[in-house]
Amino acid sequence: MKKTLRKMKFFIVLFLLPIRSFLEKTGLNFDLIELGNDIYRDDFLKIPVGESAVLLPHCLIDRECPAKFSKDDGILCIKCNRCRCGEIKKLSEECGYQFYITPSVGFTKRLAQRKKIRAAIGTTCLYEIEKGLQTERITPQGVDLNKNKVIPQVLLTREYNCLVNDIDWERLKRMITDRR
Ligand code: SF4
Repeated sequence: MKKTLRKMKFFIVLFLLPIRSFLEKTGLNFDLIELGNDIYRDDFLKIPVGESAVLLPHCLIDRECPAKFSKDDGILCIKCNRCRCGEIKKLSEECGYQFYITPSVGFTKRLAQRKKIRAAIGTTCLYEIEKGLQTERITPQGVDLNKNKVIPQVLLTREYNCLVNDIDWERLKRMITDRR
């Protein structure tokens, strides 16, 4: 019964996500991302933390970021404290997660396959999610990224800006540390 209810909720969220902005204009304000997180939460927690990753987009790094880029691992943060990604890297590693800062969605997909990532806390903007809905298969078992199923927990960036962006950093920290 619980499983059927979850599945129903999942398909309602999937159906409503592309028309989210329209719904908001009509005054119907409910958080579909949070609903999605809630649906995937139990399965997310079942994946061993070492097979899970925290994935940040490049728009969160400082403009003067001194990190080098690796084609295997993305932006190699050296925790220089110019931005908060270093703090998140430290926390993620302390909690046992893999941690990556990625330059693009395509890179993230290949990374998930290469590193055998089965679950991820990912921050992204709504535009990328809406774009992803058109190309990725979203199932109750996770999102298909290059044929690799990844169970997501999502935190939206504050805006759609590929150069300089921001997130609720404290919320992200809670998502990383709370594995109950
Ligand atoms: S903390 Fe990491 S990501 Fe941020 S600017 Fe420094 S090296 Fe770059």
